[in-house]
Amino acid sequence: MPTKDTNILIVEDEWKIARFIQMELEHEGFKTVIETNGRQALDRIIQENFDLILLDIMLPEMSGIEVCRRVREISQIPIIMITAKGAIEDRVMGLDIGADDYLTKPFAIQELLARIRAAVRKKNKASKCQILDQGNLRVKNLVLFSKRFEAQVNGQPIELTKKEYGLLEYLVRNKHIVLDREHILQDVWGYEYAGNTNVVDVYIRYLRSKLDEQFGEKYIHTVRGIGYVVKD
Ligand code: CA
Repeated sequence: MPTKDTNILIVEDEWKIARFIQMELEHEGFKTVIETNGRQALDRIIQENFDLILLDIMLPEMSGIEVCRRVREISQIPIIMITAKGAIEDRVMGLDIGADDYLTKPFAIQELLARIRAAVRKKNKASKCQILDQGNLRVKNLVLFSKRFEAQVNGQPIELTKKEYGLLEYLVRNKHIVLDREHILQDVWGYEYAGNTNVVDVYIRYLRSKLDEQFGEKYIHTVRGIGYVVKD
């Protein structure tokens, strides 16, 4: 779809940020509209024809999460969630209720543009992508069910805390990629987390005792001096 025919709704209650995004997108040739209120945004999405929604989470009257959930009941329009929070719970929730992508403030405008192009491309082959995404949440005989925050090995549920689940899902979503402790800490615990990276090692130990040791199978590999990787 040519850029000039792509109509983007920007839902953001901080006017300065909304205007900044709008100017950048219009500079790239996109058509844009701003809504600063969750409920009004939802009404507008129902009534008008947009090609993509940029959706802030903290919004007056109705949160971005709720807007996304309601939109997904009626439409598969691409949604990119934008939030100040970096915690995995928010990401998991956002993606779980059907957002296509996730961006944490502050972000570089070039990254936003890349995500928008990717989301529009993905829209064009949506059904194929959904199948691939589901395939990614499986390693060997371990399967993750994001909607329920549940992990199973050979159909047997594993009792995990929410943080353990968040860490495991993060590793599995990035399987075969070596992840260093700083990135794990930032993406799973969030930017605001002030503790040191030892907490990552502690939680990896918890996961190993519940998974690797319990089922006699090696899921989580240590990469000396760097961090961890989950492999098939
Ligand atoms: Ca906001």
